Amino acid sequence: MHRVRTIEGIREALTTPDHAGRRIGLVPTMGALHEGHLSLIRAARRDCDVVVVSVFVNPTQFNDQGDLAAYPRDEERDAHLASRAGADLLFVPDVDQMYPPGDSTTVSVRGVSEPLEGAQRGVGHFDGVATVVTKLFIAVGPDVAYFGQKDAQQVAVVQRLVADLALPVTIEVCPTVREPDGLAMSSRNVRLHPADRQRALALKVGLDRAAAAITAGSAPREAERQGTATMMTLGVEPEYLAVVDPATFLPAEDLTKPALAVVAAPVGDVRLIDNLPIPPRDAGRTDHP
Ligand code: AMP
Repeated sequence: MHRVRTIEGIREALTTPDHAGRRIGLVPTMGALHEGHLSLIRAARRDCDVVVVSVFVNPTQFNDQGDLAAYPRDEERDAHLASRAGADLLFVPDVDQMYPPGDSTTVSVRGVSEPLEGAQRGVGHFDGVATVVTKLFIAVGPDVAYFGQKDAQQVAVVQRLVADLALPVTIEVCPTVREPDGLAMSSRNVRLHPADRQRALALKVGLDRAAAAITAGSAPREAERQGTATMMTLGVEPEYLAVVDPATFLPAEDLTKPALAVVAAPVGDVRLIDNLPIPPRDAGRTDHP
């Protein structure tokens, strides 16, 4: 596996005769790789001829400077894991490669970026995501890019971006990888205080409760209430727990269509997110609030 630090370098690496004209897969990450990331790299390895993994802690998507400063970084470990999972190229640009001096261009996706994560973290968060993803797509020129269901609203923003700009890339979404007890894997989990690790399960338990309520016939707002109440009994207060339309992230109303239960909560000083797809309900069924 080669390591490349510049946009010029990644372009050069991908136009060498052994890479040119082959199917390129890109896995964008912020590093601190775990099994969730590795599942994306393995999927890219299965589908593509050339697998590029980018590791870039993107400053513009952090609304909290403390979170940016505390974000775990270990390039050697990431390189080792990415290589073992099948990466051919590790793209590790410095900040001034992605944001050159005087940088003044922002890609902003409206609508789906605004509720929930957008509202909690501010518009700058998904602007930062959309901008860096656009830059990575232009630098690497992937045929396929791999994203995790774990960050479901990010997926919806990226899909909107690709559709609106007619970007020539296919977005593959891979399922959320969880710890054996159900906690969604996240680079931020290593920052959980041992005493908070157990409490972090409340997010998944709350989502399960909301999904079970819907299966039992509850309306979406009632399911949200039950999921929230369950989390509170476990000592975690959600910023939101919502049942939404997975394309718009607006409140789901029609449960005969696929829906998504999404949650965000601080656990100690770490902010976690998770989600659970809710399969469509039989059309003839009536709700019992
Ligand atoms: P990050 O490094 O957190 O920006 O994540 C890079 C990519 O890995 C994103 O597409 C995430 O959605 C994905 N990812 C993060 N955690 C998981 C997980 N537990 N399961 C599957 N994909 C994940």
